[in-house]
Amino acid sequence: MDRRFFLKSSAAALTFAVAGRGISRAAEVPSGVLESRLRKAGKYDVVVCGGGPAGFTAAVAASRQGAKVALVERYGFLGGMATMGYVAPISEFAFGGERVIGGIPWEFVQRLEALGGAYVEWPKGNVDFDIELYKLCAQRMVLEAGVDLYMRSSLIGVEMSGRELCSVIIENKNGLEQLQATRFIDATGDGDLAWMAGVPMQGNPEGELQPSSFCFVLSGVDTDSPLLRRYMYHSGKKGSSQCTPVRDKLLELKKNGAELPDFGGPWFNSVMHAGSVAVNITRSAADSTDNRNFTRAECRLREDIFRFTQALREHFPEFKNCYVSSTAPQAGIRESRRILGAHTVTAEEYVSGIKYPDSISRGAHQIDMHASKGSGQVLIKLEQAAYVPYRALIADGFPNLIVAGRCISADRKSLASLRVQASCMGIGQAAGAAAARSLKEGRAVQSVDIQGLVEVLRSWGAFV
Ligand SMILES: Cc1cc2nc3c(=O)[nH]c(=O)nc-3n(C[C@H](O)[C@H](O)[C@H](O)COP(=O)(O)OP(=O)(O)OC[C@H]3O[C@@H](n4cnc5c(N)ncnc54)[C@H](O)[C@@H]3O)c2cc1C
Repeated sequence: MDRRFFLKSSAAALTFAVAGRGISRAAEVPSGVLESRLRKAGKYDVVVCGGGPAGFTAAVAASRQGAKVALVERYGFLGGMATMGYVAPISEFAFGGERVIGGIPWEFVQRLEALGGAYVEWPKGNVDFDIELYKLCAQRMVLEAGVDLYMRSSLIGVEMSGRELCSVIIENKNGLEQLQATRFIDATGDGDLAWMAGVPMQGNPEGELQPSSFCFVLSGVDTDSPLLRRYMYHSGKKGSSQCTPVRDKLLELKKNGAELPDFGGPWFNSVMHAGSVAVNITRSAADSTDNRNFTRAECRLREDIFRFTQALREHFPEFKNCYVSSTAPQAGIRESRRILGAHTVTAEEYVSGIKYPDSISRGAHQIDMHASKGSGQVLIKLEQAAYVPYRALIADGFPNLIVAGRCISADRKSLASLRVQASCMGIGQAAGAAAARSLKEGRAVQSVDIQGLVEVLRSWGAFV
Protein backbone atom coordinates (compact mmCIF):
# COMPACT_ATOMS: atom_id res chain seq x y z
CA MET A 1 0.00 0.00 0.00
CA ASP A 2 1.17 3.57 -0.75
CA ARG A 3 2.58 5.50 2.13
CA ARG A 4 1.14 8.96 2.60
CA PHE A 5 2.11 11.86 4.84
CA PHE A 6 -0.30 14.01 6.80
CA LEU A 7 0.74 17.23 8.50
CA LYS A 8 -1.15 19.51 10.84
CA SER A 9 -3.24 22.00 8.95
CA SER A 10 -5.11 25.01 10.19
CA ALA A 11 -8.52 23.33 9.97
CA ALA A 12 -8.29 21.98 13.49
CA ALA A 13 -10.68 24.30 15.33
CA LEU A 14 -13.00 22.38 17.59
CA THR A 15 -15.17 24.81 19.49
CA PHE A 16 -17.60 25.52 16.72
CA ALA A 17 -17.46 22.10 15.13
CA VAL A 18 -20.89 21.16 13.85
CA ALA A 19 -21.68 17.88 12.12
CA GLY A 20 -18.05 17.06 11.54
CA ARG A 21 -16.91 20.50 10.42
CA GLY A 22 -13.62 21.42 12.04
CA ILE A 23 -12.72 17.88 12.95
CA SER A 24 -11.46 17.02 9.52
CA ARG A 25 -8.20 15.24 9.03
CA ALA A 26 -4.81 16.95 8.78
CA ALA A 27 -3.65 17.98 5.31
CA GLU A 28 -1.93 15.47 3.03
CA VAL A 29 1.42 16.59 1.65
CA PRO A 30 3.36 15.21 -1.35
CA SER A 31 5.74 12.59 0.07
CA GLY A 32 8.66 13.29 -2.32
CA VAL A 33 9.21 16.85 -1.11
CA LEU A 34 8.81 15.95 2.53
CA GLU A 35 10.89 12.77 2.60
CA SER A 36 13.93 14.56 1.20
CA ARG A 37 13.87 16.84 4.25
CA LEU A 38 13.31 14.23 6.94
CA ARG A 39 16.10 12.86 9.08
CA LYS A 40 15.43 9.25 10.13
CA ALA A 41 16.12 9.58 13.84
CA GLY A 42 15.17 6.14 15.13
CA LYS A 43 13.28 2.90 14.73
CA TYR A 44 11.19 1.78 17.69
CA ASP A 45 8.66 -0.76 18.81
CA VAL A 46 6.50 1.89 20.43
CA VAL A 47 6.45 5.67 20.01
CA VAL A 48 4.53 7.57 22.68
CA CYS A 49 3.54 11.15 21.84
CA GLY A 50 3.05 13.43 24.84
CA GLY A 51 4.88 13.23 28.16
CA GLY A 52 2.03 14.11 30.53
CA PRO A 53 0.62 11.82 33.28
CA ALA A 54 -0.72 9.38 30.67
CA GLY A 55 2.26 9.53 28.33
CA PHE A 56 5.19 9.12 30.66
CA THR A 57 3.41 6.29 32.46
CA ALA A 58 2.66 4.61 29.11
CA ALA A 59 6.30 4.87 28.06
CA VAL A 60 7.53 3.27 31.30
CA ALA A 61 4.92 0.51 31.04
CA ALA A 62 5.73 -0.35 27.41
CA SER A 63 9.44 -0.39 28.15
CA ARG A 64 8.99 -2.66 31.18
CA GLN A 65 7.15 -5.06 28.88
CA GLY A 66 10.31 -5.31 26.79
CA ALA A 67 9.54 -2.81 24.02
CA LYS A 68 12.03 -0.33 22.58
CA VAL A 69 10.28 2.95 23.30
CA ALA A 70 10.58 6.61 22.28
CA LEU A 71 8.74 9.38 24.14
CA VAL A 72 8.09 12.69 22.34
CA GLU A 73 7.35 15.83 24.37
CA ARG A 74 7.16 19.41 23.15
CA TYR A 75 8.35 20.96 26.43
CA GLY A 76 11.76 20.41 28.05
CA PHE A 77 10.24 18.50 30.98
CA LEU A 78 7.66 15.81 31.67
CA GLY A 79 4.42 15.95 33.63
CA GLY A 80 1.92 17.58 31.26
CA MET A 81 -0.73 19.64 33.06
CA ALA A 82 0.89 18.90 36.44
CA THR A 83 4.07 20.76 35.51
CA MET A 84 3.11 22.83 32.45
CA GLY A 85 -0.26 23.88 33.88
CA TYR A 86 0.48 23.96 37.66
CA VAL A 87 -2.59 21.78 38.12
CA ALA A 88 -2.65 20.30 41.61
CA PRO A 89 -3.25 18.03 43.42
CA ILE A 90 -2.98 14.70 41.57
CA SER A 91 -6.58 13.47 42.02
CA GLU A 92 -7.57 10.80 43.23
CA PHE A 93 -6.05 7.42 43.97
CA ALA A 94 -8.68 6.18 46.43
CA PHE A 95 -12.41 5.71 46.71
CA GLY A 96 -14.02 5.38 50.14
CA GLY A 97 -10.56 5.31 51.69
CA GLU A 98 -9.40 2.36 49.54
CA ARG A 99 -6.82 2.79 46.85
CA VAL A 100 -8.17 1.86 43.40
CA ILE A 101 -5.28 2.98 41.21
CA GLY A 102 -1.98 1.18 41.58
CA GLY A 103 1.07 -0.08 39.75
CA ILE A 104 3.38 2.42 38.02
CA PRO A 105 1.25 5.49 38.94
CA TRP A 106 1.47 4.62 42.63
CA GLU A 107 5.16 3.76 42.33
CA PHE A 108 5.63 7.28 40.95
CA VAL A 109 3.86 8.78 43.97
CA GLN A 110 5.96 6.73 46.38
CA ARG A 111 9.18 7.72 44.67
CA LEU A 112 8.14 11.36 44.68
CA GLU A 113 7.26 11.06 48.36
CA ALA A 114 10.72 9.58 49.07
CA LEU A 115 12.26 12.63 47.37
CA GLY A 116 10.23 14.88 49.68
CA GLY A 117 8.09 15.99 46.72
CA ALA A 118 4.69 14.45 47.51
CA TYR A 119 2.20 14.44 50.33
CA VAL A 120 -0.70 11.99 50.13
CA GLU A 121 -3.98 13.24 51.56
CA TRP A 122 -6.30 10.49 52.79
CA PRO A 123 -9.03 9.27 52.55
CA LYS A 124 -9.27 10.34 48.89
CA GLY A 125 -5.65 9.81 47.95
CA ASN A 126 -5.16 13.29 46.54
CA VAL A 127 -1.44 13.95 46.13
CA ASP A 128 0.07 17.39 46.70
CA PHE A 129 3.41 17.73 44.99
CA ASP A 130 6.47 19.87 44.44
CA ILE A 131 6.37 20.87 40.76
CA GLU A 132 10.14 20.72 40.18
CA LEU A 133 10.59 17.37 41.94
CA TYR A 134 7.70 15.99 39.89
CA LYS A 135 9.63 16.79 36.70
CA LEU A 136 12.77 15.17 38.09
CA CYS A 137 11.03 12.05 39.33
CA ALA A 138 9.12 11.45 36.08
CA GLN A 139 12.28 11.93 34.04
CA ARG A 140 14.22 9.49 36.24
CA MET A 141 11.58 6.80 35.92
CA VAL A 142 11.42 7.18 32.16
CA LEU A 143 15.19 7.13 31.68
CA GLU A 144 15.68 4.24 34.12
CA ALA A 145 13.15 2.25 32.10
CA GLY A 146 15.41 2.73 29.05
CA VAL A 147 13.07 5.02 27.12
CA ASP A 148 14.60 7.32 24.45
CA LEU A 149 13.45 10.84 25.24
CA TYR A 150 12.77 13.38 22.52
CA MET A 151 12.05 16.56 24.48
CA ARG A 152 11.51 20.00 22.98
CA SER A 153 10.07 18.08 20.05
CA SER A 154 6.64 18.78 18.62
CA LEU A 155 4.68 16.12 16.85
CA ILE A 156 3.71 17.67 13.53
CA GLY A 157 2.91 14.82 11.16
CA VAL A 158 2.26 11.16 10.60
CA GLU A 159 3.11 8.73 7.81
CA MET A 160 0.30 6.33 7.00
CA SER A 161 -0.11 3.17 5.01
CA GLY A 162 -3.86 2.88 4.73
CA ARG A 163 -4.98 3.08 8.35
CA GLU A 164 -1.69 1.86 9.73
CA LEU A 165 0.74 4.39 11.19
CA CYS A 166 4.32 3.94 9.91
CA SER A 167 6.16 6.87 11.45
CA VAL A 168 5.66 10.21 13.14
CA ILE A 169 7.32 13.46 12.16
CA ILE A 170 8.62 15.68 14.89
CA GLU A 171 10.12 19.14 14.72
CA ASN A 172 12.95 20.29 16.96
CA LYS A 173 16.31 22.09 16.75
CA ASN A 174 17.62 19.30 14.50
CA GLY A 175 14.94 20.11 11.95
CA LEU A 176 12.32 17.60 10.88
CA GLU A 177 12.89 14.11 12.28
CA GLN A 178 11.12 10.85 11.55
CA LEU A 179 10.53 8.19 14.21
CA GLN A 180 9.49 4.82 12.81
CA ALA A 181 7.62 2.31 14.94
CA THR A 182 5.21 -0.56 14.84
CA ARG A 183 2.92 0.71 17.64
CA PHE A 184 1.96 4.28 18.51
CA ILE A 185 0.38 5.84 21.58
CA ASP A 186 -1.33 9.23 21.44
CA ALA A 187 -1.03 10.85 24.87
CA THR A 188 -1.02 14.46 23.66
CA GLY A 189 -4.14 15.41 25.62
CA ASP A 190 -5.55 17.03 22.47
CA GLY A 191 -5.47 13.78 20.46
CA ASP A 192 -3.10 15.37 17.93
CA LEU A 193 -1.75 12.07 16.59
CA ALA A 194 -5.11 10.34 16.26
CA TRP A 195 -6.56 13.40 14.58
CA MET A 196 -3.70 13.61 12.07
CA ALA A 197 -4.07 9.88 11.37
CA GLY A 198 -7.71 10.43 10.48
CA VAL A 199 -9.33 8.73 13.46
CA PRO A 200 -12.95 9.90 13.77
CA MET A 201 -13.42 12.29 16.68
CA GLN A 202 -16.31 12.89 19.05
CA GLY A 203 -18.49 15.67 17.73
CA ASN A 204 -19.24 18.71 19.81
CA PRO A 205 -22.97 19.29 19.25
CA GLU A 206 -23.24 21.51 22.33
CA GLY A 207 -20.55 23.77 20.84
CA GLU A 208 -19.18 24.15 24.33
CA LEU A 209 -15.97 23.12 26.05
CA GLN A 210 -15.02 23.29 29.69
CA PRO A 211 -13.05 26.50 30.22
CA SER A 212 -9.30 26.97 30.32
CA SER A 213 -7.70 28.18 33.53
CA PHE A 214 -4.28 29.80 33.73
CA CYS A 215 -2.81 28.69 37.06
CA PHE A 216 -0.01 30.44 38.88
CA VAL A 217 2.01 30.35 42.08
CA LEU A 218 1.48 33.07 44.65
CA SER A 219 4.24 33.56 47.22
CA GLY A 220 4.28 35.73 50.32
CA VAL A 221 1.00 34.08 51.39
CA ASP A 222 0.28 33.35 55.06
CA THR A 223 -0.01 29.60 54.61
CA ASP A 224 -0.07 29.12 58.39
CA SER A 225 -3.35 31.04 58.68
CA PRO A 226 -6.53 29.09 59.52
CA LEU A 227 -8.01 30.01 56.11
CA LEU A 228 -5.15 28.51 54.11
CA ARG A 229 -4.70 25.52 56.40
CA ARG A 230 -8.40 24.77 55.96
CA TYR A 231 -8.56 25.18 52.18
CA MET A 232 -5.12 24.20 50.87
CA TYR A 233 -5.85 20.48 51.34
CA HIS A 234 -8.72 18.75 49.61
CA SER A 235 -9.30 15.24 50.86
CA GLY A 236 -11.19 16.03 54.06
CA LYS A 237 -13.91 18.04 52.30
CA LYS A 238 -17.37 17.07 51.21
CA GLY A 239 -18.31 18.34 47.72
CA SER A 240 -16.08 20.99 46.21
CA SER A 241 -12.83 22.04 47.83
CA GLN A 242 -13.09 25.60 46.58
CA CYS A 243 -12.21 28.32 49.08
CA THR A 244 -15.73 29.46 49.97
CA PRO A 245 -14.88 32.59 52.01
CA VAL A 246 -12.81 34.03 49.16
CA ARG A 247 -15.38 32.99 46.58
CA ASP A 248 -18.23 34.63 48.48
CA LYS A 249 -16.30 37.86 48.89
CA LEU A 250 -15.33 38.00 45.20
CA LEU A 251 -18.94 37.35 44.16
CA GLU A 252 -20.10 40.11 46.49
CA LEU A 253 -17.52 42.51 45.04
CA LYS A 254 -18.68 41.67 41.53
CA LYS A 255 -22.30 42.18 42.51
CA ASN A 256 -21.41 45.59 43.90
CA GLY A 257 -19.84 46.61 40.61
CA ALA A 258 -16.17 45.66 40.98
CA GLU A 259 -14.65 44.94 37.58
CA LEU A 260 -13.61 41.38 38.17
CA PRO A 261 -13.55 38.78 35.40
CA ASP A 262 -15.31 35.40 35.52
CA PHE A 263 -13.61 33.03 37.90
CA GLY A 264 -13.79 29.47 39.12
CA GLY A 265 -13.30 28.23 42.69
CA PRO A 266 -10.92 29.60 43.72
CA TRP A 267 -8.74 26.69 44.69
CA PHE A 268 -5.54 27.20 46.61
CA ASN A 269 -3.30 24.17 46.23
CA SER A 270 -0.28 23.16 48.23
CA VAL A 271 3.07 23.27 46.41
CA MET A 272 4.74 21.91 49.57
CA HIS A 273 6.59 25.15 50.37
CA ALA A 274 5.62 27.47 53.21
CA GLY A 275 4.41 30.84 51.95
CA SER A 276 3.46 29.62 48.45
CA VAL A 277 0.28 28.21 46.89
CA ALA A 278 -0.72 27.25 43.36
CA VAL A 279 -3.87 29.19 42.48
CA ASN A 280 -6.64 28.03 40.19
CA ILE A 281 -9.05 30.94 39.76
CA THR A 282 -8.98 32.33 36.21
CA ARG A 283 -11.41 30.99 33.67
CA SER A 284 -12.11 31.52 29.99
CA ALA A 285 -13.75 29.59 27.19
CA ALA A 286 -10.93 28.55 24.84
CA ASP A 287 -10.19 26.00 22.13
CA SER A 288 -6.69 24.63 22.57
CA THR A 289 -6.75 23.11 19.08
CA ASP A 290 -7.02 26.57 17.50
CA ASN A 291 -3.83 28.54 18.08
CA ARG A 292 -5.33 32.02 17.54
CA ASN A 293 -8.27 31.32 19.83
CA PHE A 294 -6.02 29.88 22.54
CA THR A 295 -3.48 32.72 22.30
CA ARG A 296 -6.22 35.31 22.78
CA ALA A 297 -7.56 33.43 25.79
CA GLU A 298 -4.09 33.04 27.34
CA CYS A 299 -3.33 36.76 26.96
CA ARG A 300 -6.61 37.70 28.60
CA LEU A 301 -6.12 35.19 31.41
CA ARG A 302 -2.60 36.53 32.09
CA GLU A 303 -4.17 39.94 32.69
CA ASP A 304 -6.76 38.31 34.95
CA ILE A 305 -4.05 36.66 37.07
CA PHE A 306 -2.82 40.08 38.15
CA ARG A 307 -6.31 41.50 38.69
CA PHE A 308 -7.20 38.66 41.05
CA THR A 309 -3.86 38.95 42.82
CA GLN A 310 -4.59 42.62 43.48
CA ALA A 311 -8.08 41.79 44.77
CA LEU A 312 -6.67 39.13 47.11
CA ARG A 313 -4.08 41.57 48.44
CA GLU A 314 -6.71 44.24 49.08
CA HIS A 315 -9.40 42.11 50.72
CA PHE A 316 -7.70 39.26 52.58
CA PRO A 317 -5.08 39.72 55.29
CA GLU A 318 -3.67 36.26 54.48
CA PHE A 319 -2.69 37.60 51.04
CA LYS A 320 -1.72 41.17 51.86
CA ASN A 321 1.97 40.59 51.01
CA CYS A 322 1.49 38.14 48.19
CA TYR A 323 3.04 38.34 44.73
CA VAL A 324 2.98 36.23 41.57
CA SER A 325 6.21 34.24 41.79
CA SER A 326 5.53 32.29 38.60
CA THR A 327 2.87 31.60 36.01
CA ALA A 328 2.47 28.14 34.50
CA PRO A 329 4.18 27.61 31.12
CA GLN A 330 0.71 27.55 29.57
CA ALA A 331 -2.97 27.86 30.43
CA GLY A 332 -4.57 24.59 31.51
CA ILE A 333 -6.89 22.67 29.18
CA ARG A 334 -9.76 20.63 30.58
CA GLU A 335 -11.42 19.49 27.39
CA SER A 336 -10.59 19.25 23.69
CA ARG A 337 -10.50 16.49 21.05
CA ARG A 338 -11.43 12.93 21.95
CA ILE A 339 -11.50 9.93 19.68
CA LEU A 340 -14.66 8.12 18.68
CA GLY A 341 -13.40 4.77 19.87
CA ALA A 342 -14.59 1.18 19.75
CA HIS A 343 -16.57 2.03 22.89
CA THR A 344 -17.46 5.47 24.25
CA VAL A 345 -17.63 5.65 28.03
CA THR A 346 -20.87 7.28 29.14
CA ALA A 347 -21.57 9.12 32.37
CA GLU A 348 -24.23 6.56 33.32
CA GLU A 349 -21.77 3.68 33.02
CA TYR A 350 -19.06 5.61 34.77
CA VAL A 351 -21.06 6.87 37.74
CA SER A 352 -22.63 3.48 38.44
CA GLY A 353 -19.23 1.76 38.29
CA ILE A 354 -20.11 -0.73 35.55
CA LYS A 355 -17.41 -3.35 35.17
CA TYR A 356 -16.64 -4.11 31.53
CA PRO A 357 -15.24 -7.39 30.22
CA ASP A 358 -12.16 -5.40 29.19
CA SER A 359 -11.74 -3.10 32.22
CA ILE A 360 -8.14 -1.95 32.36
CA SER A 361 -8.18 1.01 34.70
CA ARG A 362 -10.22 2.77 37.39
CA GLY A 363 -11.42 6.22 38.35
CA ALA A 364 -12.29 7.67 41.76
CA HIS A 365 -12.91 11.37 41.19
CA GLN A 366 -16.43 12.77 41.06
CA ILE A 367 -17.73 14.17 37.79
CA ASP A 368 -16.47 17.72 37.86
CA MET A 369 -17.82 19.90 35.05
CA HIS A 370 -16.83 23.56 34.96
CA ALA A 371 -19.09 26.06 33.22
CA SER A 372 -17.47 27.83 30.27
CA LYS A 373 -19.05 31.11 31.38
CA GLY A 374 -19.65 32.42 34.91
CA SER A 375 -18.45 30.74 38.08
CA GLY A 376 -20.52 27.54 38.00
CA GLN A 377 -19.40 23.94 38.48
CA VAL A 378 -21.47 20.75 38.39
CA LEU A 379 -20.37 17.92 40.67
CA ILE A 380 -21.82 14.40 40.52
CA LYS A 381 -20.68 11.77 42.98
CA LEU A 382 -19.66 8.30 41.79
CA GLU A 383 -21.72 5.47 43.28
CA GLN A 384 -18.57 3.36 43.34
CA ALA A 385 -15.12 3.54 41.84
CA ALA A 386 -15.44 3.62 38.06
CA TYR A 387 -13.88 1.38 35.42
CA VAL A 388 -12.39 2.25 32.04
CA PRO A 389 -12.67 -0.30 29.22
CA TYR A 390 -9.76 -0.99 26.85
CA ARG A 391 -12.08 -0.38 23.87
CA ALA A 392 -12.21 3.34 24.78
CA LEU A 393 -8.48 3.52 24.00
CA ILE A 394 -8.70 2.17 20.45
CA ALA A 395 -10.56 3.07 17.27
CA ASP A 396 -12.04 0.54 14.86
CA GLY A 397 -9.83 -0.06 11.85
CA PHE A 398 -6.62 1.52 13.17
CA PRO A 399 -4.52 -1.56 13.94
CA ASN A 400 -1.48 -0.01 15.63
CA LEU A 401 -2.72 3.09 17.45
CA ILE A 402 -3.72 3.35 21.12
CA VAL A 403 -4.89 6.54 22.78
CA ALA A 404 -4.25 7.39 26.45
CA GLY A 405 -5.28 10.13 28.88
CA ARG A 406 -7.95 12.72 28.39
CA CYS A 407 -8.34 12.14 24.63
CA ILE A 408 -9.83 8.64 24.99
CA SER A 409 -13.36 7.86 23.83
CA ALA A 410 -15.63 9.32 26.51
CA ASP A 411 -18.70 11.52 26.58
CA ARG A 412 -18.37 15.03 28.03
CA LYS A 413 -19.62 14.09 31.48
CA SER A 414 -17.51 11.00 32.03
CA LEU A 415 -14.50 12.91 30.70
CA ALA A 416 -15.18 15.45 33.44
CA SER A 417 -14.09 12.75 35.90
CA LEU A 418 -11.64 10.51 34.09
CA ARG A 419 -9.56 13.48 32.92
CA VAL A 420 -7.94 13.79 36.36
CA GLN A 421 -4.34 12.78 36.67
CA ALA A 422 -4.45 9.53 38.64
CA SER A 423 -7.03 8.17 36.18
CA CYS A 424 -4.96 9.31 33.20
CA MET A 425 -1.88 7.61 34.67
CA GLY A 426 -3.83 4.37 35.12
CA ILE A 427 -5.02 4.58 31.51
CA GLY A 428 -1.46 5.34 30.35
CA GLN A 429 -0.12 2.31 32.18
CA ALA A 430 -2.65 0.08 30.42
CA ALA A 431 -2.00 1.67 27.02
CA GLY A 432 1.76 1.11 27.32
CA ALA A 433 1.39 -2.49 28.40
CA ALA A 434 -1.18 -3.16 25.65
CA ALA A 435 1.03 -1.67 22.93
CA ALA A 436 3.98 -3.84 23.92
CA ARG A 437 1.83 -6.95 24.30
CA SER A 438 0.09 -6.55 20.96
CA LEU A 439 3.53 -6.47 19.39
CA LYS A 440 4.70 -9.57 21.27
CA GLU A 441 1.49 -11.37 20.33
CA GLY A 442 1.79 -10.24 16.72
CA ARG A 443 -1.78 -8.96 16.77
CA ALA A 444 -3.52 -5.71 15.99
CA VAL A 445 -4.27 -3.60 19.04
CA GLN A 446 -7.95 -4.57 18.67
CA SER A 447 -7.10 -8.24 19.27
CA VAL A 448 -4.87 -7.98 22.32
CA ASP A 449 -5.37 -10.84 24.77
CA ILE A 450 -7.25 -8.91 27.46
CA GLN A 451 -6.83 -11.56 30.14
CA GLY A 452 -3.04 -11.52 29.60
CA LEU A 453 -3.04 -7.72 29.72
CA VAL A 454 -5.03 -7.66 32.95
CA GLU A 455 -2.65 -10.19 34.51
CA VAL A 456 0.32 -7.94 33.74
CA LEU A 457 -1.47 -4.91 35.17
CA ARG A 458 -2.40 -6.81 38.31
CA SER A 459 1.16 -8.07 38.71
CA TRP A 460 2.22 -4.41 38.79
CA GLY A 461 -0.36 -3.60 41.47
CA ALA A 462 -3.30 -2.27 39.43
CA PHE A 463 -6.78 -2.88 40.85
CA VAL A 464 -8.50 -4.19 37.72
C1 LIG B 1 -7.28 24.15 35.33
C2 LIG B 1 -7.24 22.68 35.50
C3 LIG B 1 -7.39 22.14 36.76
C4 LIG B 1 -7.31 20.77 36.94
N1 LIG B 1 -7.37 20.26 38.21
C5 LIG B 1 -7.02 18.99 38.42
C6 LIG B 1 -6.83 18.52 39.73
O1 LIG B 1 -7.03 19.21 40.71
N2 LIG B 1 -6.43 17.22 39.87
C7 LIG B 1 -6.18 16.42 38.80
O2 LIG B 1 -5.76 15.28 38.99
N3 LIG B 1 -6.39 16.84 37.54
C8 LIG B 1 -6.77 18.11 37.32
N4 LIG B 1 -6.93 18.56 36.05
C9 LIG B 1 -6.93 17.61 34.90
C10 LIG B 1 -5.57 17.05 34.53
O3 LIG B 1 -4.52 17.88 34.88
C11 LIG B 1 -5.46 16.71 33.04
O4 LIG B 1 -6.68 16.30 32.51
C12 LIG B 1 -4.43 15.60 32.87
O5 LIG B 1 -3.15 16.13 33.12
C13 LIG B 1 -4.48 14.98 31.49
O6 LIG B 1 -3.38 14.13 31.32
P1 LIG B 1 -2.87 13.73 29.87
O7 LIG B 1 -1.59 13.01 30.07
O8 LIG B 1 -3.97 13.09 29.14
O9 LIG B 1 -2.64 15.13 29.13
P2 LIG B 1 -1.72 16.38 29.49
O10 LIG B 1 -1.49 16.49 30.94
O11 LIG B 1 -2.34 17.53 28.77
O12 LIG B 1 -0.33 16.01 28.80
C14 LIG B 1 -0.18 16.01 27.40
C15 LIG B 1 1.30 16.14 27.08
O13 LIG B 1 1.47 16.07 25.67
C16 LIG B 1 2.31 17.13 25.24
N5 LIG B 1 1.92 17.46 23.86
C17 LIG B 1 0.73 17.91 23.45
N6 LIG B 1 0.72 18.08 22.11
C18 LIG B 1 1.95 17.73 21.69
C19 LIG B 1 2.56 17.68 20.41
N7 LIG B 1 1.90 18.04 19.30
N8 LIG B 1 3.85 17.28 20.32
C20 LIG B 1 4.54 16.91 21.44
N9 LIG B 1 4.00 16.94 22.69
C21 LIG B 1 2.72 17.33 22.81
C22 LIG B 1 2.05 18.24 26.22
O14 LIG B 1 3.12 19.17 26.25
C23 LIG B 1 1.89 17.47 27.53
O15 LIG B 1 3.09 17.26 28.19
C24 LIG B 1 -7.08 19.92 35.83
C25 LIG B 1 -6.94 20.46 34.54
C26 LIG B 1 -7.02 21.81 34.38
C27 LIG B 1 -6.84 22.39 33.02
